[in-house]
Amino acid sequence: MSKRDYYEVLGVSRTATEAEVKGAYRKLAVRYHPDKNPGDAAAEEKFKEAAEAYSVLSDADQRERYDRFGHAGVSSAGGANWGAAGFGGIEDILGEFFGFGDMFGGGRGGGGARRTAAQRGADLRYDLEMTLEEAAAGMTAQLRIPRLEACDNCKGSGAATGTQPENCPTCAGTGQVRYQQGFFSVARTCGNCRGAGRIIKSPCDSCRGTGRVEHEKSMEVKIPAGVETGSRLRITGEGEGGTQGGPAGDLYVVIHVKEHEQFERQGSNLYASMPVTFAQAALGSEITVPTLEGQEQLKISAGTQTGTVFRLKGHGMPVLGGRGRGDLFVSVTVVTPTTLTREQRKLLEQLAEIEETDLGDKGLMDKVRDIFG
Ligand SMILES: [Zn+2]
Ligand SMILES: [Zn+2]
Repeated sequence: MSKRDYYEVLGVSRTATEAEVKGAYRKLAVRYHPDKNPGDAAAEEKFKEAAEAYSVLSDADQRERYDRFGHAGVSSAGGANWGAAGFGGIEDILGEFFGFGDMFGGGRGGGGARRTAAQRGADLRYDLEMTLEEAAAGMTAQLRIPRLEACDNCKGSGAATGTQPENCPTCAGTGQVRYQQGFFSVARTCGNCRGAGRIIKSPCDSCRGTGRVEHEKSMEVKIPAGVETGSRLRITGEGEGGTQGGPAGDLYVVIHVKEHEQFERQGSNLYASMPVTFAQAALGSEITVPTLEGQEQLKISAGTQTGTVFRLKGHGMPVLGGRGRGDLFVSVTVVTPTTLTREQRKLLEQLAEIEETDLGDKGLMDKVRDIFG
C-alpha cells in the first residue's frame, strides 16, 4: 500500500512553518482522536496517518530528509528505525496536546477516568564515537546503557507481592479533584496521590514502591554504513521503563565520527592531499594513494601543478540509506626537497644552467617539458 504525501495528509503547503504544521496536526488529532470516535476504524486510520506525518514534518532533520528522498528517506534500515518508521511516538504528541487538559472540551472522552497513573518512560541518549572507517563500512556496536527499568518483582506497579495499588479515595482514581469557581469548574491535581490516581499501601521491597529499578542493559546495535556526526538512530522502546505499567521511552544513539588523519569529509565525498616530487609532477608518473579500503594507483599527467585535483570515483563514503558512494578527491602538492644528494644537486645545477641560458620567451614549464620531453 503506498503512503500518502505527508504534506497532503496534514493539508499544509511544502513551505509550511513549524507552527502551521503543528496547528494542522492538532486539528486532525482532535477530530479523529479514538476517544471521540469509538469503534470507528476509518477515523483511527486517519488519526494514525496524521500522527505519522506530524512526527516526520515536526522534526527538522526528518523533514529535510523527507523533502529530499520522500518516504524512502525516513523509512527503516535494518532492525532499528531511522526516523518515523515503526512509529512509536503517538503518546508523545498526545501528551503534548492533551496536556492542555480541558481546552478541547471535556478532556479525553468527556468524563471518563483520566489515565494519569501510567506514564511513558523517558527517552535516553547514548553518544557513540566511531572512526571514519567504521562509519564507511557500518558496524555492530556493543552498548551498555544504565537505565531505569520496570521492576520485575512487582511488574512495575510498585505494590508488594500479593497486593495491588488501590484507587485514591480523595479523587476516586482520577488523579484530579474538581471544584466550582464562579461559573467555572476547575480541575486541580489531587494532593493525596499527587495525580497518580492510585495509592500504594504496602510498597514493593525491590523498588521501594517506585515500580522501577536501575539496571545496566547490554545490547547490540547495527549502525548502517554512511552515518555522520549528528546522525541519530532511534531504537523504539529501549529508553527508560514507564511507571505503573506505562510504555518504555525510546533510546537515541547519537553518532560522533572522529577526525581522520588523512581524509576530510564533506557529505559523501572525501578529500585528501598527496605530496609529489618535482620530477613526478613535471614528467608525469603513477603514485599510490591511500583510500579507506586500502590503496589505489593514480596517474599524474606530465606538467601537473601544485593544487591540481584528481578524482577517484566511488572511493568516498557510502550514501546513508541509499545506493552508491561519493568520490575521493586528491589534491597534489609539489614538494621542494630540503636536502639533496650529491647527484641530485649536480643534476639540478645542470637544469638551472639550461634554464638560465634558454629561458627566453618560453615559460619555465614549457622549457622543462622540452628538456625531458
Ligand atoms: Zn517493585
Ligand atoms: Zn488522588
